Amino acid sequence: MTDHSDVLIIGGSIAGVRTAEGLRRLSFDGGITILEAGQDLPYDRPALSKQVLTAGADVESVMLRSPADLDKARIDLRRGCRASGLDVGARTVRLTDDTVIAYSDLVIATGAAPRELPFAPAGPGVHYLRTVQDAVRLRDAVGAPVRVVVVGAGFIGSEVAAAAASRAASVTVVEPFAFPLSRVLGDLVGKRLARLHESKGVQLLLGRSVSGIEDDGAGGKRVVLDDGTALSCDVVVVGIGATPNTDWLAGSGLHVADGVVCDEYCRADAPNVFAAGDVARWPNPLFTESMRIEHWTNAVEQAGIVAWNITHPDAPRAYAPVPYVWSDQYGTRLQIVGRPRADDEVRIVLDDPADDSMVALYLRDQGVVGAFGLNAPSRILALRRSLAARASLEEIMTAFDSTLV
Ligand SMILES: Cc1cc2nc3c(=O)[nH]c(=O)nc-3n(C[C@H](O)[C@H](O)[C@H](O)COP(=O)(O)OP(=O)(O)OC[C@H]3O[C@@H](n4cnc5c(N)ncnc54)[C@H](O)[C@@H]3O)c2cc1C
Repeated sequence: MTDHSDVLIIGGSIAGVRTAEGLRRLSFDGGITILEAGQDLPYDRPALSKQVLTAGADVESVMLRSPADLDKARIDLRRGCRASGLDVGARTVRLTDDTVIAYSDLVIATGAAPRELPFAPAGPGVHYLRTVQDAVRLRDAVGAPVRVVVVGAGFIGSEVAAAAASRAASVTVVEPFAFPLSRVLGDLVGKRLARLHESKGVQLLLGRSVSGIEDDGAGGKRVVLDDGTALSCDVVVVGIGATPNTDWLAGSGLHVADGVVCDEYCRADAPNVFAAGDVARWPNPLFTESMRIEHWTNAVEQAGIVAWNITHPDAPRAYAPVPYVWSDQYGTRLQIVGRPRADDEVRIVLDDPADDSMVALYLRDQGVVGAFGLNAPSRILALRRSLAARASLEEIMTAFDSTLV
């Protein structure tokens, strides 16, 4: 027998749950079913590399919603249900146990999974960080004064390095670019981030990549670099990016290209199919650029637009956000808004050693396209509003200067 849900959401994390709640807020009265491959209630991934690793927060404290919250909103969350196929003609989704569920509207919110080093699958001594189980395993592994090698100095790698260092581990980070995050933020800001790591005793091996990870024969690991250096350690953590979870869409005919390809209304190229969160790619009209964003705020905001567009098919809203991400490392708050690129002109407009705050603007074609901040949350959020309003450099600087007096 084929089950039916008015709105069927695949993926029970932040994008899926916020879409369901958005529908209810917009007075949608039909059935909402969320299929989640994992066994857990929805939880907050950003807390995994922060509170869970550093403060040892218990797993319950990172849960996003309780069963009572979901019941109250009449959201039918089915855990342990993995979608394995989509038939856009019949408007059905097949699960791995061959159950088939029909939908009126489908939301793809299957997120992303860590990119793996081909020679280093997760296993004893080798960690990736995406799930609450990954976080608990890693927390236990870095609890003692162990030697940790982190592969990759992106957000996850940097947060793990900070958390492990705060727990007395000796930490080495290996990064192929010249500085942490310099691939996106350029060398000037990257250098500043390198200083932040080094000031906390974390060793950076920059411009190096990992060519192998071996057992050292004594219960530890040996991380071999491209120049032949071998690093002995107890724990390896790999943070080299993520790839969207789209395998289950193979054969569906849906356009997939590093994400589910949508239009500016977050509609995929089949009737009544939408995508939100880390898995969605769409042309952002504000930046005239095709984007796929792996950040929490995007998942929340895109879910809101998808809910609107499901309930208002005749008056859809384009999704035109200024991308935003935050990261907490060593007690310092990092924030990025907009679309900074390493080759942009970088203008430092605030650099205050008193509170270790800094703001850098990213300029391209005479306009401001992004900003980076250290310990400057209200200024960065104000800049986000300015970018959304397409403010000129002059307008931005006038508004910015007035916050300094
Ligand atoms: C450790 C960590 C720290 C982070 N820190 C920050 C931060 O500080 N700031 C920030 O902005 N962002 C941060 N992020 C990113 C942020 O958490 C993600 O952008 C956000 O979780 C994306 O939400 P999502 O719902 O799109 O996808 P996900 O959270 O990936 O959820 C997708 C869900 O779909 C399920 N699923 C996948 N395939 C199937 C299938 N075939 N059938 C059924 N279910 C399926 C998965 O089990 C998963 O629960 C962090 C991420 C991680 C991992």
